[in-house]
Amino acid sequence: MVGGKGEHVRVAVIGAGFGGLGAAVRLRREGVTDFVVLERADGVGGTWRDNTYPGCACDVPSHLYSFSFAPNPDWPRAFSGQSHIRAYLERVADTFGLRPHLRFGAEVRSMRWDADELRWEIDTAAGPLTADVVVSATGPLSDPKIPDVPGLGTFPGKVFHSSRWDHGYDLRGKRVAMIGTGASAAQIVPAVQPDVERLTLFQRTPPWVLPRFDRRITAAERWLHTHVPATRAARRGLLWGVRELQVGLFTKRPNQLGLVESLAKAHLRRAVKDPALRARLTPDYRIGCKRVLLSNDYYPALARPNVDVVASGLAEVRGSTLVAADGTETEADAIVFGTGFHVTDMPIADRVTGADGITLAESWKDGMKALRGTSAAGFPNFLTLIGPNTGLGNSSLILIVEAQLNYLADYLRQLDTLGGRAALDARPSAVNAWARMIRTRMERTVWNSGGCDSWYLDEHGHNTTLWPGTTAEFRKVTRRVDLAEYRLLRMPRRAPGAPVAAGAGR
Ligand SMILES: Cc1cc2nc3c(=O)[nH]c(=O)nc-3n(C[C@H](O)[C@H](O)[C@H](O)COP(=O)(O)OP(=O)(O)OC[C@H]3O[C@@H](n4cnc5c(N)ncnc54)[C@H](O)[C@@H]3O)c2cc1C
Repeated sequence: MVGGKGEHVRVAVIGAGFGGLGAAVRLRREGVTDFVVLERADGVGGTWRDNTYPGCACDVPSHLYSFSFAPNPDWPRAFSGQSHIRAYLERVADTFGLRPHLRFGAEVRSMRWDADELRWEIDTAAGPLTADVVVSATGPLSDPKIPDVPGLGTFPGKVFHSSRWDHGYDLRGKRVAMIGTGASAAQIVPAVQPDVERLTLFQRTPPWVLPRFDRRITAAERWLHTHVPATRAARRGLLWGVRELQVGLFTKRPNQLGLVESLAKAHLRRAVKDPALRARLTPDYRIGCKRVLLSNDYYPALARPNVDVVASGLAEVRGSTLVAADGTETEADAIVFGTGFHVTDMPIADRVTGADGITLAESWKDGMKALRGTSAAGFPNFLTLIGPNTGLGNSSLILIVEAQLNYLADYLRQLDTLGGRAALDARPSAVNAWARMIRTRMERTVWNSGGCDSWYLDEHGHNTTLWPGTTAEFRKVTRRVDLAEYRLLRMPRRAPGAPVAAGAGR
């Protein structure tokens, strides 16, 4: 570490998105005030600060995609846009008094477990510090992934990723290539299609698309939600319950999803009259295997005369000519990559060195795994929010975050109860048993058996991203920390200057 060890805090939270801000609120509620939130950017919001592309909005209704402890009766739409979600998170930071804890421009560059002092040494862009406990909330979809396309460097036009939208570049009248057909692309395509001269969509795999029941939330509803909070709670409960009921179809009975596929095909038929285009847009895998998209304007936009769908991925760039894997050539002025994020290769994992002197990325070389989605073996007092196998195919990740915050709160209480300087390190046997349980349950899910390749799967073909159960079940398994699943590390009390003893297993 450079420049000494800096200040010491009880808890260092990394990231100021939904996860980090949620952790900060919970810490304060638990009476912990000795903590900082380290954020590499210059503001809060995470996903909702970085993604400003045209049409950006949530895919889970706002009344569910928000904190239970910070309800917002004023959501303007069923699926609110990025600016409203970002403003909501700014308000959370203000309302819950989080500002004094926030450290912006403080990218965590590296951190190392100090086994003698039982604490983390953290090197940030804003200086070093140490912490007893680290909560990593760096986000599942935070670091954009641009594929290594041969010749991309020869492209003379504009290139950017959907999550780093260049608002200084005017797409009007331009020939734009959109690479990818994920959730972001499905929002961008209809938003930019009316303005661009030509839009070419490079599609490796067509997504399944269902109607989006979006609408303005009326003034009367908002009044009711403000003055009769039970109506707000009922709305949230209903949104949650419907999604909980869907889980079994995805995780246990994918063969019953045929009816949903029929609905999606009818949705496609209504919008796209050209049979050749329809054929290109019809998936050949089970619905749900890849993330199901909700959109009413994606298909109509693709049917417009200024749009081409190339049913093949981008293989090569030769100057301003884009060559698809099937040989199709397209001239473009700009390339927008909607190619997703580093998900199964979480960038923070390269920066964290644990008790055995290896990085989290090295320890996860055969696939990410963490006890109850939170604790990795060999990384004491390091808790990941939205860690391995905590993602959801159909519901709000905020439910997962809040469940993990219960776990965090109990973790800190357990440390307090143990007294003295103590740390908990997940036992490899417990982590492996957890990972085995997940893997067994995954076999039946649509994500693993539905006949597609998706970003849910890692390079080994294992699904290390999604939770194969309901959010209620996840909440249950993260309610309490089971000390039997951890090794207790202790630093014996010692006189100043006396030699340090290593932590002992329990
Ligand atoms: C366009 C888009 C739409 C989405 N829509 C939905 C939806 O409808 N429903 C849903 O459930 N989920 C959705 N998601 C997933 C979304 O990422 C999560 O719901 C949620 O926002 C994650 O919050 P987070 O705090 O864990 O991560 P993020 O919001 O990604 O925040 C992580 C923060 O950590 C910071 N950070 C990262 N690395 C470091 C470092 N080394 N040092 C310091 N700071 C660091 C980042 O700058 C960022 O501010 C969407 C994602 C995207 C991209």
